[in-house]
Amino acid sequence: MEQWLRAVLFILFESDKRVSTFYGDSVEKKEIRDLAVSAAVISLAFAIAFADGLFGLAQNIGTIPSLFILSLITVAISFIAHELGHRYVALKFGHYAEYRMWPQGLFMALLFSMFGFVFAAPGAVYIHPRRGLWGEHHNITQRVNGIISATGPAVNLVLAAVFLSLLIFVPSLGFIAGYGVTINAWLAFFNLIPFGPLDGAKVLKWHKGVWASEIALAVILFGLFIL
Ligand SMILES: [Zn+2]
Repeated sequence: MEQWLRAVLFILFESDKRVSTFYGDSVEKKEIRDLAVSAAVISLAFAIAFADGLFGLAQNIGTIPSLFILSLITVAISFIAHELGHRYVALKFGHYAEYRMWPQGLFMALLFSMFGFVFAAPGAVYIHPRRGLWGEHHNITQRVNGIISATGPAVNLVLAAVFLSLLIFVPSLGFIAGYGVTINAWLAFFNLIPFGPLDGAKVLKWHKGVWASEIALAVILFGLFIL
């Protein structure tokens, strides 16, 4: 898993010499660890929630291991793609971005999953403003912050659409594909809640239309599988 993540990060960002020379290798290692731990915990949270949490534990405990493996495949792709989406766009705007896990968020994910709900904020991408030639800060504008924030949920909506087409055209993958749609729709929806440090607050501040379209799509896609 770590090797796979490292390869993705390498392809996307290692060519950006400014980042690797300025921040060094240790940051990258810590970031991969944070991404891997967060992906594992949030996968477990989805598995417990899908097995109906504490209420279904007696009947469904046997299904948790297979749900966990299924989650690892779909959540790892969906959650990591969301965070790398933020990171990629931030770097394209010339800012430095780094994923850090939030231990309280990881704990809440496990706690809420016992009640059948996934608290999907295991961490966040922190953006450090670009510095000028003399070390002065270039502040991140509301627009740029909004675009960076809108990218994460947008990545999940695209992935939900990919899983949805798999569901339609490759029926043998139906179970995984349905799971993939639900997880991505939920990750997009949860992160678009306009509250606190979640993406939604920054997207809404930048562009009401973008926020409304993203959350509407997330609700429709999530509704498809809950009904
Ligand atoms: Zn996000």
